[in-house]
Amino acid sequence: MEKVQLEQRAAELNKVLTQYGHEYYDLDAPTVPDAIYDQLMKELIEIEEEYPDLRFPDSPTQRVGGQTLTAFEKVTHDHPMLSLGDTFSEEDVRAFDERVRQNIGDNFRYVCELKIDGLAISLKYVDGVFVQGATRGNGTIGENITENLKTVRSVPLRLTKPVTLEARGECYMPKRSFNNLNKERAEREENLFANPRNAAAGSLRQLDPKIAASRNLSTFMYALGTNGEEFGLTCHSDALDFLEELGFRSNHERRICTSLDEVFAYIEEWTEKRPTLPYEIDGIVIKVDDYDQQQELGNTVKVPRWSIAYKFPAEEVVTKVLDIDLTVGRTGVVTPTAVLEPVLVAGTTVQRASLHNEDIIREKDIRIGDHVIIRKAGDIIPEVKQVLFDQRAEDAAPYAMPTHCPACDSELVRLEDEVALRCVNPQCFAQIAEGLAHFVSRNAMNIDGCGEKVVAQLLREGLVKDVSDLYHLKMDELIQLERMGEKSATKLIDAVEASKANSLEHLLFGLGIRHVGSKAAKILAAHFETMDALMAATEEQLTEVFEIGEKMASSLVTYFANEEVQELLSRLRDAGINMSYTGKKVDTSETDSNFNGKTIVLTGKLERLTRSEAKAKIEALGGNVTGSVSKKTDLVIAGAEAGSKLDKAEKLGIVVWDEERLIEELSE
Ligand code: NAD
Repeated sequence: MEKVQLEQRAAELNKVLTQYGHEYYDLDAPTVPDAIYDQLMKELIEIEEEYPDLRFPDSPTQRVGGQTLTAFEKVTHDHPMLSLGDTFSEEDVRAFDERVRQNIGDNFRYVCELKIDGLAISLKYVDGVFVQGATRGNGTIGENITENLKTVRSVPLRLTKPVTLEARGECYMPKRSFNNLNKERAEREENLFANPRNAAAGSLRQLDPKIAASRNLSTFMYALGTNGEEFGLTCHSDALDFLEELGFRSNHERRICTSLDEVFAYIEEWTEKRPTLPYEIDGIVIKVDDYDQQQELGNTVKVPRWSIAYKFPAEEVVTKVLDIDLTVGRTGVVTPTAVLEPVLVAGTTVQRASLHNEDIIREKDIRIGDHVIIRKAGDIIPEVKQVLFDQRAEDAAPYAMPTHCPACDSELVRLEDEVALRCVNPQCFAQIAEGLAHFVSRNAMNIDGCGEKVVAQLLREGLVKDVSDLYHLKMDELIQLERMGEKSATKLIDAVEASKANSLEHLLFGLGIRHVGSKAAKILAAHFETMDALMAATEEQLTEVFEIGEKMASSLVTYFANEEVQELLSRLRDAGINMSYTGKKVDTSETDSNFNGKTIVLTGKLERLTRSEAKAKIEALGGNVTGSVSKKTDLVIAGAEAGSKLDKAEKLGIVVWDEERLIEELSE
């Protein structure tokens, strides 16, 4: 981006981050997820690092927390209560480690702790008696919330020793209390809290202490206000033990790490175990343990240089809608898809998100150029969750769906009781191409060497008008095609030939009959065994088959009644295509998923799912994911660049699926 554009973006980011900060810190009512705030903040930091003159004096990158707007008395902290620098990747953590090593050498250790998602508090004691509790506020001035903190059971009113000190830590609301609180609020039709952090902050910043008392808050204290010299302490980990001796609650999941590998192992462990905790954490805090070394490293105005927060990968991120693409499917449905500035969401890069139909675009008011929140939230398919309206360009126009087919220009129609727009021209090139691409796809006739480009060429050159023409392709015609050598042409012809022997379900699925997915095709093929028997079946006979509903039955009957379909099928039969079921006889009354009870191995690089997502989904459907391929393995999912495990699976004759098939089966 040019500097002028960056300047404009920096101004925009200053404005929105200040507003989000106000909503979060002052009003305890954020309007965007934390990950979005973090991502925008990172963008601003990067701009300011590249062009320091674009750093406004009041930039949110230079400020801690919010204002102290409430009616509480103001408290000036003896030492600033700082924030923490954020990192979002292993690479960032390595860079932090390098900076530390450059300053203090290699002889040091880290303490890793859970980053509790609550709000920072300061507790002051004189001769062992609790005298003042405060929020962090803007880091220098906080609010005096002593009366509220007195109601929190884990805050000791008297310490075990008559010492005078300040302890710092996090006040949080356990997940269970948060859920109960929101349930009660929903019953009373009150606004819900966005997350436990805001609920905790909202509870502590109420003037009536009875409210805080009723909210089941708790604390983990993680630092002394001073460097602990007066108590003979020399390091952070000893200070934590000392705090506990005095009667404070500290978090026991902390760990001393003497190498970066140990730090990464801790991060990995807690990334997995995070959901099992009774409280929310939003990352891991990595701290240099030794006080002298901390002092040597020092602080910036906002954060310590001896500590850093590693934030868990975001499941929601912001990106920009570059365009809205329209595709015509094989049934003529026109689907709008947001083309996005590529962005990492929960471990995978997302560039496109289906917008499904016109109603959704209108409802969410998605426009080209908008900044939007994308999420996957445990699901596989990325979706546009919400538009950030405050970042919308003034000239962004509402999106209008086309009135004519983007492929063949015939007028689009909206069928009764459907939200989708359809092209009903049976000659529409895009529909035919999609239908053909579906027919040759792996779960259907599995004709290798016939990708999207080849399909388009075959249609354009008039070599293929419908799927049956594939079976009459000639070598000399094929090699005339652009970029089609003798080798690829032979491969294609061989694949076409081999597909003739496929079991019936492949053809059934490949025909693209409405509502008939690959699983249903298999059930139908196994039940009726031949195409003739299936074609002769009535709706009643079809619905008698387990898992075949009325919609599918009616669609099948209508499909086979069509004369053009009958002609197509007889052309396919004449071309020598098998029309019987040759697979294993299966019990079609089985309700099990394709994964239930199966031992499954994942190998290679998955592109649309992360390993852990795939594993979790398979396990949720009753599959057992193991690490190595053996005779006991039922199924191997092979991503890109799969190596020895795939070889072994092939040697042992184990069924292998690619990622696409996995996703299809999962969504069934
Ligand atoms: P932060 O929460 O990222 O990190 C600093 C804080 O971590 C400390 O002040 C401390 O309170 C806390 N912490 C928890 N466990 C700790 C431990 N073991 N050791 C040390 N500190 C620990 O930074 P921040 O400045 O408090 O706030 C930024 C956060 O607030 C970000 O997560 C950001 O997403 C969120 N935020 C969100 C919005 C929004 O609109 N959603 C707006 C502003 C800020």
